[in-house]
Amino acid sequence: MGRQYETVIGLEVHAELATKTKIFCGCSTRFGAKPNTQICPVCAGFPGALPVLNKKVLEYALAAGLALNCQVNRCSRFDRKNYFYPDNPQNYQISQLYLPICQNGRVEIETAAGKKDIRIHEIHMEEDAGKLIHDEWSGRSLVDYNRSGVHLIEIVSEPDMRSAEEVIAYLEQLRDILRYLKVSDCKLQEGSMRADINLSVREAGSTSLGTRTEMKNLNSFKAIAHAVEGERERQIELLEGGKAVLQETRRWDENKEASRPMRSKEDARDYRYFPDPDLPPITVSEDWLEEIRARRPMLKEERKRLFADRYGLTEYEASVLTASVSIADLFEETAQLSGNGKRAAAWLMGEVMRVLKEENRDAEEPGLSSEALARLIRAETEGRVTPHTAKKVFEAMVREGADPDRYIEDHGLTAVRDSEALEKAAEKVILSFPESVKEYLGGKEKVFSFLVGQVMREMGGKADAAQVRELLLKRLNEK
Ligand code: ADP
Ligand code: MG
Ligand code: ZN
Repeated sequence: MGRQYETVIGLEVHAELATKTKIFCGCSTRFGAKPNTQICPVCAGFPGALPVLNKKVLEYALAAGLALNCQVNRCSRFDRKNYFYPDNPQNYQISQLYLPICQNGRVEIETAAGKKDIRIHEIHMEEDAGKLIHDEWSGRSLVDYNRSGVHLIEIVSEPDMRSAEEVIAYLEQLRDILRYLKVSDCKLQEGSMRADINLSVREAGSTSLGTRTEMKNLNSFKAIAHAVEGERERQIELLEGGKAVLQETRRWDENKEASRPMRSKEDARDYRYFPDPDLPPITVSEDWLEEIRARRPMLKEERKRLFADRYGLTEYEASVLTASVSIADLFEETAQLSGNGKRAAAWLMGEVMRVLKEENRDAEEPGLSSEALARLIRAETEGRVTPHTAKKVFEAMVREGADPDRYIEDHGLTAVRDSEALEKAAEKVILSFPESVKEYLGGKEKVFSFLVGQVMREMGGKADAAQVRELLLKRLNEK
């Protein structure tokens, strides 16, 4: 019988904050700009340029810390982490080592096994480095400093996770919290959320920690799950073979589904950390903290409950509509503006989701106006357009950015309420399909919907189906 092993995992998660400018200068943080168009002497590391802390960064870090149940250090400081690398123009990174902004937090995760707390060791603020682009074709390496000086918070967990499932539950929970707080958009693909995975194994029952490795370069949940499994197996194999695990940083290659060593683990000592003399200590007043606490937006669970209570949604509907914060916002605004929560929910869960999926749009950026959607819902609930037409109008809103009221007007789509026109259409259908009428009157109920369809067709789809049904029923019963 072989030995049983337990996996022990601690995460270092970097999240880029949603502020418009960098942490120590006024440069834009927009993603995807041309290389080196968003830089200045501060973030390009020119000698003598002085950093000034962006207050929004501090505010977002505090909001995150409070939501993760951390203790806030009312006085904290920035330190220099010294290292030489071409993507780091100052030759040091401004970070926090000795006195991070938040410590000792906790976040609750839920897996198939139930609920569990993962402790947060600390949250600190730091600046990002530039990006090296290796052009293998020309054999050159180029550097883009647009990302240099972009604000990050690093959330360091205690080694409390035991499986890939727990790691993913933890990351999803962090992502939900940061997104609902609107402090980060947490996109793994674009790198606005990055997770480094520290993993060791130990014999089941042991209470001491094994030697860990750290894996970087993970930009999807799938890659993370693979990396955890792969690294666990690699370490167990080493131990079973009587070899030792080396403490090192490894790079996970998702294509090869294997990791390889990147560098042996350096010590904090190697970075010659010292307090940054260019930045004064940060003090946080109790009043400001209280203000941030009071302003905290509702998180996912609270909004789910609110949606169920205020708009009468089922638990299922409420959970679908809170899966993404942008959809939750779109729903709530649409519900308020249209005055009809149930219809807003039906639209969001039906047409809106369908289109997002069809067009492969990111649910975080649905690109739809709640105001326009609400007007369409009003047009529908007030009977100005039929549900059938409303779908057509929605299609035009999505594809061409059409304004619903304008579109209805311009294309003559207003529902026909005129009963005279309806009577005429019904009469015509009854005369044109005598066989069907006979069948219906002979007890063949199914033919009824065929007749309704024919009247709708006569009306160019602009009649209200309920009204047509009622009228047709009356007419047929008079026969
Ligand atoms: P460093 O400063 O070298 O990055 P830390 O002590 O700050 O190291 O730990 C970094 C991360 O590694 C933390 O998330 C921590 O929980 C995790 N960790 C530390 N030791 C282990 C271990 N033996 N096994 C798994 N994870 C670990
Ligand atoms: Mg670390
Ligand atoms: Zn700058």
